[in-house]
Amino acid sequence: MNMEKQLKEYYQSMGISGEVYDFCLAVEKDLRPRFEEIDGVSAVNQLKVLSAMQKNRLSEACFAPTTGYGYNDIGRETLEKIYADVFGTEDALVRPQITCGTHALALALMSQLRPGDELLSPVGKPYDTLEEVIGIRPSDGSLAEYGISYRQVDLLEDGSFDYEGIEKALNDRTRMVTIQRSKGYASRPTLSVAAIGDLIAFIKERKPDVLCMVDNCYGEFVELTEPSQAGADLVVGSLIKNPGGGLAPIGGYLCGTHACIERAAHRLTSPGLGKEVGATLGVTSQMLQGLFLAPTVVKGALKGAVFASAVYEKLGFKTVPDSRASRHDIIQSVELCDPDLLCAFCEGIQAAAPVDSFVKPEPWDMPGYDARVIMAAGAFVSGSSIELSADGPLRPPYAVYFQGGLTWEHARFGIMMSLEKIIRTGKQSLPT
Ligand SMILES: *Cc1c(COP(=O)(O)O)cnc(C)c1O
Repeated sequence: MNMEKQLKEYYQSMGISGEVYDFCLAVEKDLRPRFEEIDGVSAVNQLKVLSAMQKNRLSEACFAPTTGYGYNDIGRETLEKIYADVFGTEDALVRPQITCGTHALALALMSQLRPGDELLSPVGKPYDTLEEVIGIRPSDGSLAEYGISYRQVDLLEDGSFDYEGIEKALNDRTRMVTIQRSKGYASRPTLSVAAIGDLIAFIKERKPDVLCMVDNCYGEFVELTEPSQAGADLVVGSLIKNPGGGLAPIGGYLCGTHACIERAAHRLTSPGLGKEVGATLGVTSQMLQGLFLAPTVVKGALKGAVFASAVYEKLGFKTVPDSRASRHDIIQSVELCDPDLLCAFCEGIQAAAPVDSFVKPEPWDMPGYDARVIMAAGAFVSGSSIELSADGPLRPPYAVYFQGGLTWEHARFGIMMSLEKIIRTGKQSLPT
């Protein structure tokens, strides 16, 4: 029996009909040139990570756990040097004590800004959870409570920067600029590293001493360079997304200038202590091995995103980005226009998971959202969204946000399963 036939039979035994399989395979064949491009980026990023590990003489001794204060933790020090080299920065702070992406971003903002300073977002509203950090929504301990003001310039109708508005918004108090690379749950396009570089150059020409920070969540290793190589003073992200490669069990990173990282370290631990303390409790090897795998994992997630986009486009749905657009993050959204189809999509992703595949996701009233939300996730690391996951609010246009997949083969299976569940609702058929 040949390989192709065997694979199809296996898919069928796992609940994918022959029709869905054949349809998806035809879509995949057309994506080969696109996949080759993605392979190329991943090959470069793999060498980038490898050379940083070799240059910094990563050794087995680095994997030893430390406890207590964690003084002289050579694993932690080596990990941070490797991150700094991968992101092309002077220094880095990479810690299990940084609990998530929001914490990393809050740390970056709170460590650099002082009372009387102003923060500017020139790319519209930041990620939901940052609204409370900044104080856009009143919250205990927000920047606003410390007398740090905030200004925002929205993108223009066509998604481009409002340079005139940005120029006007910059003032004597502007100390820091926050730029979110990924669109998150907004409908704007994700920003390329080149576009971020242009924006930073424009801002620094007018105010050279302003600090430019990039929220790099979901963007790492999607392109050949990172925003820190395009002028950003600080780039920030979560280790349970791209750079953790699925293996980091917790953590966040900040990479940037010496001065920025010093300030961040003094805020994370304590003035006077800075980077010198912070036991790693044995997770350093997972963080390093995850980083080593990250370019490959991101490659799989990207192929999954492009494949999902192409499959659902063929069925007539609007996808953002579309299957031909150049990619700057791993998020894919599909406007399913029907609550039943949104739920079916998520059921498919859940049914394809290695963990909790037997549970059926149900919409629920999530705090902070104005509509019920459905989520699918069956991850080894709780809440990890570099693993195959999907979610969406139950309101028009009933868009599902899909991301991750530790391997391309798993992402592919998940997307086929989502389509299988959608076809079984009887509300959608395959094109003839
Ligand atoms: C995920 C994400 C965050 C927040 O990270 P958490 O780990 O969920 O706290 C912030 N910004 C963007 C763009 C993200 O994708």
